[in-house]
Amino acid sequence: MIWSMRKLTPWDQITHLSSCPVYGDANGGAWFGAELKNAGYDGIILKGQSAKPVYIYIKDGVAELKDAGSLWGKDTYKTQEEIKKEYGDNRTQIACIGPASENLVFYGNIMSEWGHSLGRAGLGCVMGSKKVKAIAVRGKMKLPMQDPGKFREAARQAMEEVKEGFLSQIMHETGTAGWVDSAISYGDGPTKYYTAGTMEEATNISGVTMAEKYQTGHTACFGCPVRCRKVLQIKEGKYTYESIEGPEYETLIAWGPMLGIADMSSVVHMNELINGYGFDTISSGASAGYAFYLYELGVISDKDTGGLKLTWGNIDAAIELIHLIGKNQGFGAVLAGGTKRMAQKYGRPIGEAVQTKGLEIPMHDPRAFHSMGLVYATAPRGADHNKSDGFQVDGGISHPDLGLNAGDRWGDDKAEMVVISQNFRALTDSLGICHFAAIPFTLLLGMINASTGWDTDMDKLLKAGERIFQLQRALSCKLGITAKDDVLPELVMRPIPDSGQEGHVPNMEKMLPEYYTLRDWDSASGKPSKKRLESLGMPEIAASIGAK
Ligand code: SF4
Repeated sequence: MIWSMRKLTPWDQITHLSSCPVYGDANGGAWFGAELKNAGYDGIILKGQSAKPVYIYIKDGVAELKDAGSLWGKDTYKTQEEIKKEYGDNRTQIACIGPASENLVFYGNIMSEWGHSLGRAGLGCVMGSKKVKAIAVRGKMKLPMQDPGKFREAARQAMEEVKEGFLSQIMHETGTAGWVDSAISYGDGPTKYYTAGTMEEATNISGVTMAEKYQTGHTACFGCPVRCRKVLQIKEGKYTYESIEGPEYETLIAWGPMLGIADMSSVVHMNELINGYGFDTISSGASAGYAFYLYELGVISDKDTGGLKLTWGNIDAAIELIHLIGKNQGFGAVLAGGTKRMAQKYGRPIGEAVQTKGLEIPMHDPRAFHSMGLVYATAPRGADHNKSDGFQVDGGISHPDLGLNAGDRWGDDKAEMVVISQNFRALTDSLGICHFAAIPFTLLLGMINASTGWDTDMDKLLKAGERIFQLQRALSCKLGITAKDDVLPELVMRPIPDSGQEGHVPNMEKMLPEYYTLRDWDSASGKPSKKRLESLGMPEIAASIGAK
């Protein structure tokens, strides 16, 4: 398991893990990454497995292994509170797991602060299997910097640009939840487990509604001028809160319309519970959605669910499922394995499980934006909306620096756009830059060169992005992935005429071969070619996977 932290805010983790059979990584916001660097570390490698629960405490370059017996079983909020109390220092930053990862829920997250997640690929479950409850860091060490003056000036300009950017302003006003209304009109938000294109009532849980009725403030990750995260006050509904961090778009849809639910108080409550247990809202919501779907079909009954009536819109049943998943108990233990294993358990066609390579598709329906079909089919860790800018570009958020401008969302000429944006996201994830911080490339270059002393340029950096992406692919191939795994599940290839999708489905037969040509991947093995890997400076990787 490898952690890596670069110069800016978000932090990353890479692993070969349990929840996807392939390569997995995740990154997150908050303050942990910056504090880790201040504590004198660029990364931490955890090897082996502890016999008893432990946590790691790092301060100013000194690391200690501490007993975590009293923390085991505690939720992610309490865990952080107790560690901070122990050191009497509220600025200690903590990455921890909750009961879900202790109980080896396959999509367990690593969590930090109030709901910041290293989500998706089950990285918390890996920590849980090692009995590592948390990593706590604190430091005031000096950061090495080649040219601090130049860096500060480039960073100042980047801050100005980010603050004034169109995307930043939208994100500040409505956060990621602002996409809910767009999702309704585009048919982008999976509804009733992909069987409906939209649910008009979802506007009750949109970012605009949040801003108008519930929002009392904003919070931000380390040094971020956007402040996209929302503080809410919920005075009406079954679950009330005086002050609470609001859910993100993915959670709102996955535990909302996915299950036929559109109630703000309930989804806020569900988000709070899930973050406390510490598991992935996307994979869990999709697994719950699949259970509701199977219940409707009559494939499963009250006998399977332990008496829960999984009818669309049943909020109490959804909440009970959250507790069962977090404890990995009863019917929750079935959902804790994800949709692919659920389909196998119930003898269902595998294309009914809406996932690729074992990872559930996020809350952007590929029938609304065809580029996402290609993104999901080819992303190294399985279905992954964050490894490209597909829906954002065709939804109007362009990247003129990269030559990516909005096109027909149902167009099937998306291979080049997906390749470029995947390379770009591999680069920005590696640099530790938030997707919502639209920093012009020239300023990014200025910061990189000033901090490192390099003399790099845009072409070299994009090449580095490609190198990362192809390396991740090579790792997946080494772990058994072939071209046959680059498929979209059949359920999302069924047209839905009466919604923002207007009956469109992505033409994978056209897009995928074009993508393979651009990537230089073998059409049967799916491996990157020897020539391409060598041209990217990775001859040893080519040899290791037997590339031709
Ligand atoms: S824009 Fe990104 S870095 Fe800033 S607060 Fe939002 S998620 Fe965090």
